[in-house]
Amino acid sequence: PKVLVTGANGFIAVWVVRSLLEAGFSVRGAVRSIEKYGHLRDIFASYGDRFELVVVPDITKEGAFDEAVKGVDAIEHTASPFHLNPNSKPEDFVVPAKQGTLGILQSALKLGKSGSVKLKRVVITSSCAAVLRVQPEPKTFSEDDWNDQAEDEVKEKGIMASGISKYRASKTLAEKAARDFVEEHKKEIEWDLVRLNPPFVFGPTIHAVSSPDALNTSARQFYEILTVPQTPATRHSGSCWVDVRDLARAHVLALLKEAAGGERIIVSAGPYLTRNTVDAAPDSDDKYQKGVPGSGKDAVHQIRYDASKSVRVLGMTYRTMEETARDTTADWEARGW
Ligand code: NDP
Repeated sequence: PKVLVTGANGFIAVWVVRSLLEAGFSVRGAVRSIEKYGHLRDIFASYGDRFELVVVPDITKEGAFDEAVKGVDAIEHTASPFHLNPNSKPEDFVVPAKQGTLGILQSALKLGKSGSVKLKRVVITSSCAAVLRVQPEPKTFSEDDWNDQAEDEVKEKGIMASGISKYRASKTLAEKAARDFVEEHKKEIEWDLVRLNPPFVFGPTIHAVSSPDALNTSARQFYEILTVPQTPATRHSGSCWVDVRDLARAHVLALLKEAAGGERIIVSAGPYLTRNTVDAAPDSDDKYQKGVPGSGKDAVHQIRYDASKSVRVLGMTYRTMEETARDTTADWEARGW
C-alpha cells in the first residue's frame, strides 16, 4: 500500500515516513519545493522505488493536492505552520492550516477512487493545541475538549494575540474544518478520517537541520531547556510531551488499526516540568543544565491529558523522558552541537 505524507521534510513527518517504510508501506512525500528532495532521497535511498517525492508548491491553492492524492491507499497530512512568531498575522497560520486540510480532503473526495487503488483512510496531525485551555486549576483534558479559548483571543485581538494563540487557533480551526467536512460529505465519502492530537513533540532529529537555531519549534524548545540556564519560575513550568518516534508509530498504527477510523486520539506520553526534563538529561560535565533527580516527584501539573484511548485503540506504549533525553542529546553530540 502507498501512503501520501504531506510536509514530508518536517521534524515529525520524516519520522512518519521512516516508520511507514519500515512497516512495509510505500510512501509518496509531498514537499513545497524541489530543493527539499536531496536530504530525503539520501536518507531513504535504501528503499528504492518504495519512496517517491512530489512538489506541492502552495497547499492553499484549489486542487493543490489533486495530483498528489492519485493512486494512494492512505494519506497522512502533517503540513502546517508551527512557529511562535508574534509578528505574524493570524492568517499566516490559519490559512495554510485550514485551507491545506480542507484542500487535501477535497482532493481525497474528488480523486479517492481514481484508477484501481481506493483511498481508505486520511490521518491528520492535529495537536493538543486544539484541545487544551489555559486555566487556573489543574485539569486532565480528553478528546471531548476543544480549545475555543485561542480562537476567541485571535478573534478579539487579531495580530496582537500571542504567537502561541495564533498557532493554537489555527490547529483548532483546521481540525474542526476536517471534522465538519467529513460530516457534511459522509454520504459521498468512502474513506474515513483519524485525527491525532499530540502535545509537545521532542526527540532526535532525522530531517535536514544545520544548527540548533534551525530546529523546528518543539525540538528547539527542548534544546533550550537543556542548554540555557532556567530561572526558578521556568523550572516549575511545563506541559505534556511525546517522543517523535512514538508519534510516528502512532501514525502507522492509525492506518493499521481498523477501530481508529473516525476517531480523535490524544497521543501523549505524559506531563513534564522543565526541571524533570533537566533531571532526565545525561550527566555530562557542564554541557547541559544540571537537575536534581527525583526532585519533581510530587509536582502539580497544570495540564494533563487522558491518553488511554491511544493505548486502547492504537495499542500505544510510550518512551520515558530519560530515553528521549538520552537519545536527543546523543543526536546533538553526533551533529557536533
Ligand atoms: P516542522 O516545522 O518541522 O514541519 C512543518 C512542515 O509543514 C514542513 O514540511 C513545512 O514545510 C510544512 N509547512 C509549514 N508551513 C507551511 C505552509 N504555509 N504551506 C505548506 N507547508 C507548510 O514542524 P513539526 O514537524 O513539528 O510539525 C508537523 C505537524 O505536527 C504540524 O501540523 C504541527 O502543527 C503538528 N504538531 C507539532 C507538534 C510539535 O510539538 N512539534 C505538536 C503537535 C502538533 P517547509 O519546510 O517547506 O516550511
